[in-house]
Amino acid sequence: MSRESMEYDVVIIGGGPSGLSTAIKLKQLDPNLNVCLLEKASEIGAHILSGNVFETRALDELLPNWRELNSPIKTKVTKEKFLFLGKTKSLSWPTWLLPAVQQNHENYIISLANLCRWLAEQAENLGVEIFPGFPASEILYNEDGSVKGVVTQDMGIDKDGNKKDSFEPGIELLGKVTVFAEGCRGHLGKQLIEKFELNKGKDPQQYGIGFKEIWEIEDKNHEEGLVMHTAGWPLDNNTYGGSFMYHAENKQVFLGYVIGLDYKNPHLSPYDEFQRFKTHPAIKKIIEGGKRISYGARALIEGGFQSLPKMFMPGALLVGCDAGTLNMPKIKGSHTAMKSGMIAAETINEHLKENKELSIYENKFKNSWLHKELYEARNVKPSFSWGANFRNYFYRNRSNFI
Ligand SMILES: Cc1cc2nc3c(=O)[nH]c(=O)nc-3n(C[C@H](O)[C@H](O)[C@H](O)COP(=O)(O)OP(=O)(O)OC[C@H]3O[C@@H](n4cnc5c(N)ncnc54)[C@H](O)[C@@H]3O)c2cc1C
Repeated sequence: MSRESMEYDVVIIGGGPSGLSTAIKLKQLDPNLNVCLLEKASEIGAHILSGNVFETRALDELLPNWRELNSPIKTKVTKEKFLFLGKTKSLSWPTWLLPAVQQNHENYIISLANLCRWLAEQAENLGVEIFPGFPASEILYNEDGSVKGVVTQDMGIDKDGNKKDSFEPGIELLGKVTVFAEGCRGHLGKQLIEKFELNKGKDPQQYGIGFKEIWEIEDKNHEEGLVMHTAGWPLDNNTYGGSFMYHAENKQVFLGYVIGLDYKNPHLSPYDEFQRFKTHPAIKKIIEGGKRISYGARALIEGGFQSLPKMFMPGALLVGCDAGTLNMPKIKGSHTAMKSGMIAAETINEHLKENKELSIYENKFKNSWLHKELYEARNVKPSFSWGANFRNYFYRNRSNFI
């Protein structure tokens, strides 16, 4: 089948925080680079789920004047709560006793979807070509095996796979470098990791499932700027997980639950545990009388530092959660995804200008705060399995406390 083909310096797959930061940084480094970004959702942000507590560290570096650019980052965290839930009671744990990584001073409660929409505007102002509604469906390779680009999905196929009258073949997008920024378990990223054995010698990757609901709650229950997390009921002490509730602007709360998919009980239904959690008196009293206005679920990549694959290969780079840069103890992956994209952009710029190997990505990553942050967080999640974490200790001995 003959396909239309377009050539760019850099083709980016995915319009989340990592892909958009790659695009912005590339154009900041060299406004003459031709950069395009494909997003499978109908608009940027439409497939972004996280109800987000956002650390601005990467954004401060990428767009230091973000406060003057009408960014959707308005609600500063003003108060934090951590509750241990028993079946009917709860105990508030002083947040200063939590490890520093789990504290949220100086962070903001945001809609990550809105942040991505705004980042896309910044990217477009710099000349990045953004194509929403175009899923990259296949990887193209050069004869020497290096990545050449991608093909977008064919349009106008019926449910049996036959071409309809409206059929249009996908387009080939060819890049000197292709950046894969599809998020957790990106289907092209998975193929690359296998083909180039990028995870050789690394720990197996780990995943979780995260649910999020946006609620509009009664004024009397709303405390703008409050970040609340819970551990304990309804999960047992062998299941890694907990809840979040972030009080955003406009009487909205982002309420969600994250459960590690390494749970032992085969009958456990993460979705039903989340629904059960909402019936706890400490939670019910906040959302009662309110209205759920949207909801969704998404996988999280939880393996962290030990499971991080090699992030470069001939002709391409992996960034963000497509590789696995989420900091699990923080449950934050937005700033880390952004930083990985910025490092990828510096790598590509030097590759294109000075003919340096794409493998310099690794060293640049090693010398960045991102590496330090993920390295420092590396043992927190594994410690849950060893039962050494104080939360597990507390949960096991909860009858003494609650
Ligand atoms: C429930 C939950 C709560 C979270 N809470 C927080 C939090 O409070 N703070 C925080 O910092 N982080 C949080 N995270 C993590 C954060 O959302 C991610 O780490 C971050 O979004 C990763 O960015 P990314 O750009 O790598 O991937 P994503 O944000 O997943 O973006 C990937 C984009 O690529 C697109 N895409 C995928 N495949 C293709 C394809 N083949 N072709 C074209 N487009 C494609 C997707 O539609 C998507 O828009 C949370 C995550 C979840 C699930």
